[in-house]
Order: sequence, then C-alpha cells, then structure tokens
Amino acid sequence: MALPTVAIVGRPNVGKSTIFNRIVGERVSIVEDEPGVTRDRIYGTGEWLTHQFHVIDTGGIDIGDAPFLDEIRQQAEIAIEEADVILFIVNGREGVTSADEEVAKILFRSKKPVVLAVNKVDNPEMRADIYEFYSLGFGEPFPISGSHGLGLGDVLDEVLKSFPDPKGDPYDDDVIKFCLIGRPNVGKSSLVNALLGEERVIVSSIAGTTRDAIDSAYRYNGQDFVIIDTAGMRKKGKVYENTEKYSVLRALKAIDRSDVVLVVLDGEEGIREQDKRIAGYAHDAGRAVIIVVNKWDAVEKDDRTMKNFEQEIRDHFQFLEYAPIVFLSAKTRRRLGTLLPTIQTVSENHAMRVQSSILNEVILDAVSRNPAPSDKGKKLKVYYVTQVAVKPPTFVVFVNEPELMHFSYERFLQNTIREAFRFEGTPLKIIARKRK
Ligand code: GDP
Ligand code: GDP
Repeated sequence: MALPTVAIVGRPNVGKSTIFNRIVGERVSIVEDEPGVTRDRIYGTGEWLTHQFHVIDTGGIDIGDAPFLDEIRQQAEIAIEEADVILFIVNGREGVTSADEEVAKILFRSKKPVVLAVNKVDNPEMRADIYEFYSLGFGEPFPISGSHGLGLGDVLDEVLKSFPDPKGDPYDDDVIKFCLIGRPNVGKSSLVNALLGEERVIVSSIAGTTRDAIDSAYRYNGQDFVIIDTAGMRKKGKVYENTEKYSVLRALKAIDRSDVVLVVLDGEEGIREQDKRIAGYAHDAGRAVIIVVNKWDAVEKDDRTMKNFEQEIRDHFQFLEYAPIVFLSAKTRRRLGTLLPTIQTVSENHAMRVQSSILNEVILDAVSRNPAPSDKGKKLKVYYVTQVAVKPPTFVVFVNEPELMHFSYERFLQNTIREAFRFEGTPLKIIARKRK
C-alpha cells in the first residue's frame, strides 16, 4: 500500500501543474481551500508501465506571504521530505535562471534522486537549446512538452529507475493499520499516547520509503495493530509544517497506508467546516471510517447530549452514514476501551467477502419488492450481482442498461447489501455493467 512518491518542483510557470495533470489524469485527490471556492490539485496517483506511484505538485502548496525565493526554497524542501524521486522542471524557453540554480542547490544537497525535465520544448528544433541545463548538475536533461504531452514517457522511465525496491509495508496482512486525522488540537496525539501508554514500540521506518510517519505496533486481545501517526512527526521550526495543505498532504499519505481511518472531532468545540473536509478525504479513499468524538469529559451533559451530538454528526457528514461514532476521552481514558474493538470490527467488514449465491438471493428479492422506476419508458433490469473486490467491498451489478442505474437506486442497492450483511464502518462500491 505504501506507493513511492514523486514530487514535482520548479519555479512558478515552468509547467508543473500541467505536467502533474498529465501524469495523474483523473486519479487525484482534491484539496480544497474553501469548500466550493478554490480546488487545487496537489496530490494524486500516477501509473506508468504497471507501476503506480503518488505525485505531489509542490507548486500548489503556498507558504503564506513568503517572499518568492523563500517560497520555492520551501517547496523544494517539501519535495525532499516527501519524495522518493524528485522531478525538477525548468523552462526550455527561458534558459537557466538564478531561481533554477537556487532550487538545484537545495536538491543537490539532499542526495535524493533527481530527474531534470526541460519543459516547453514543443518541437524537435528546440531540442538544441537544452544543453545549457547540464550545468544544473543533474546529468542528462530530458526535453518535454507538458502541454503537448511529448517526452513524458522517457522521463517516467527514468523516474521509475530510481524508485526504491517495492517492499511495501513490512506488516502481515492480518495486521490492522489505522491512523487518526483531524484538525489541530482535537487530541490526536493525546489519543495515540493514551492508546499506547507506556508500551510504545516504534516499528518504522520502512526500508526504502520516505519516513513520513511514526508507526507504532500494539497488540490487543490477540490482534496486532499498527498506528500510523503523522501528528507525532511535526518538526518544529519548519514554516510549511503549519500550512494547512501540508498537513492535508500528511493526512492523505497516512490514509493511504491505513485500513481504518479515525476521524477525530473535538466534543468540546463541536463540528467545524474543516472537519467536514478532512472527513471527506477518508471517505474518498475508500477506507473504513470511525468518527471519534474526543474530550467528552469536558462536555456538560444531560441525557440528550450524546443523541443530539450524534444527530449533528449525521447531518454534517451524510456521506459517512456508515461510520460508527465513538464518544470518549483521551484524558480520562473513559470509553477508550471501546475503540480497538470497533476498529477491529470495521476492519473485518472492510475486508469481508460475501458469497455470490447469498448476495443474489438478497438483491433479487429486494429488486422484486422494489423495482427501479422507469425512465423515459425504459426500465432498469438487474440480472446478477457479484463482489469483485474488498477494501472497500466492491460489487458489480449486471443490468440491461447501465445508464438506467440512477444514484438513488444505487443507494438502495447499497443499503440493501449493507443491512443484509452488516457492513458497518466501510464504504461500499457499486459498479453497473451491461450484461453481455
Ligand atoms: P506551474 O506554475 O509551474 O504549475 O506552471 P503551469 O502548469 O501553470 O504552466 C504555466 C504556463 O505554461 C501555462 O500557461 C501553461 O499553459 C504553459 N505551459 C505548460 N507546459 C507547456 C509546454 O509544454 N509548452 C508550452 N508552450 N507552454 C506550456
Ligand atoms: P492534536 O493536535 O490533535 O494532536 O491534539 P493534542 O493531542 O495535542 O491535544 C490538544 C489539546 O487538547 C491538549 O491541550 C490536550 O491536553 C487536550 N486534550 C486532548 N484530549 C483531551 C480530552 O480527552 N479531554 C480534554 N479535556 N482535553 C484533551
């Protein structure tokens, strides 16, 4: 699950985001500034010759009001911190600039593998101009054209050569990996410490991959857990550590490596807009999710308080309707004991397979009791369902016309499966296919 990471660096306007978009296509996690306002794409997944990898566009991580040079320096540092391979982009139409040299110096010191691509080389005649880029000290510069999609294959071949050995996570399949995400100060670190107590056993770092989290192993009730803790990795003094997009990046990487994601809320402060965005990342990634309301000790309660908060959560996080909610306190440890069993349950559900025969019995029965409404005189017919994947459980539904499968009917099928097989805590995916 731990894919190698490629970070794209370079000064503004050399074509980083153009190239990023070329590489990741639609496989992107949307990182929003304000809901519905800016949608910066900085983190996605690319694929080349059957290799999958993550891509970060460091240009999308703005460092507040930092002066121009500081900003690109910090973006270079983020690349060094996060990446296994750095893709350094320069502009073939402008030649080597002092900002390029500045970036080169920082990258050079890091000793990380760097692939140098000279962008905006839109036609073969321009290739003669790339030789001056040898002076940056990263060997052969690769001419490319992001906007025309030229030369990228050669660059990616080179990037692939520098990937670490694909060892992946060093954990057995039956180890449950989870992470905690949430706004600053909701109590993520406190929760990790409360769970681990004195028994903290650090099992990272994974050979050959970037060290972006502290992994701690934990055994409970015969089950092995690994906590992927990014909060504990905060380095004091690095300006970009405090930018929101950088923490989002960290959270996304932790989610990637996890089976279960705990979305931590602050019971004392209530739900904030930022919580919703953070919860969205967990859902989008298809991981099992638990909503944890921390600091419940600090809340003045009567017999309705919990019910009301629960309702508020359901209203705000409708897309997480499947996620169980746990109220607890890291400080007093109250109800802390319910957390690991819940993690275990949702993780099992996330990996659960159901038999086709029983699945079809349930679905065909539900469909006959609640047929799809007709659409312009045409009616959806459901023939057969089969589970094709786990983590998350994914079902292919064979039908007469996939276009007739509307969102609401898909929801109905999803709910039917969820209720019949008790898929609590995990998203379910439904794919409509035409029966051949
Ligand atoms: P970033 O600031 O480094 O992310 O750069 P962008 O990807 O936003 O690109 C900056 C400008 O360069 C845009 O106007 C792009 O359309 C243009 N651009 C990007 N790649 C190429 C290319 O290969 N050839 C040409 N001619 N223009 C390009
Ligand atoms: P993080 O930024 O999400 O990792 O949050 P921290 O773990 O650093 O906690 C932020 C603050 O909340 C600290 O002052 C903690 O002492 C406090 N805190 C954490 N958990 C609890 C809790 O369960 N109850 C109360 N009352 N305070 C808590």
